Amino acid sequence: MEEVAEEVPVVYLHDIKRQYVQGESVLTILGGAKLALWAGQSVALVAPSGSGKSTLLHIAGLLEHPDEGEVYIGGTATSGLSDAERTQIRRTDIGFVYQSHRLLPEFSALENVMLPQMIRGLKRSETVSRSKEILDYLGLGDRITHRPAELSGGEQQRVAIARAVANAPRVLLADEPTGNLDPHTADHVFQALMQLVRATQVAMLIATHNMELAHRMDRRVSIQDGQVIELD
Ligand code: ADP
Ligand code: MG
Repeated sequence: MEEVAEEVPVVYLHDIKRQYVQGESVLTILGGAKLALWAGQSVALVAPSGSGKSTLLHIAGLLEHPDEGEVYIGGTATSGLSDAERTQIRRTDIGFVYQSHRLLPEFSALENVMLPQMIRGLKRSETVSRSKEILDYLGLGDRITHRPAELSGGEQQRVAIARAVANAPRVLLADEPTGNLDPHTADHVFQALMQLVRATQVAMLIATHNMELAHRMDRRVSIQDGQVIELD
């Protein structure tokens, strides 16, 4: 069969509205925002603090509902899905990385990466070998038995990235993943993310304040007046 190029975005945000009511006033964070994320493409989301980056990522990751608009994952509209169906999509198709690693402190690096696969129902032996492979790939092969507190900031973030991609998601969303790291470590973590995009063709959206890193990505967008705009 002939190979056909992927023509449907991995994630498509259509006319997304999100408002917060603060006392008497209504704060419009997103006012009809549109954004398509494509397989194998890294996109930087660069916008000032408070402009709605986290809100946009949470909506794209099905962690939050928009007030209006539709989130399509692989061409499927998600607004009519049940919570269980949304959870299932989050587990299989979406990886999320936060500014702080949010690893479980009582578990080793290996166990932290195994957990999402176990929850998904994979066999334990399979999750062990897969998790080792991913950690090894991210340069953490000799850290698998360490607990988060026994890892450096950069290592913690790389474990968090390994956990996010453990179920081979179609999209990886990262909310200022290098925001707490020194420039050298940030660069290392950033390289790990870029390596994954090239190797797995995952679609990636990274919120960042770091323009230098943003310029090394495939595309840059921002949020202005509640809309997603393309930069350069
Ligand atoms: P960013 O990630 O770009 O810093 P956020 O998406 O976190 O921006 O927030 C965008 C705006 O929405 C901010 O002004 C913030 O104060 C407001 N906001 C976020 N969450 C809430 C909430 N639960 N209630 C009211 N306002 C909120
Ligand atoms: Mg934020």
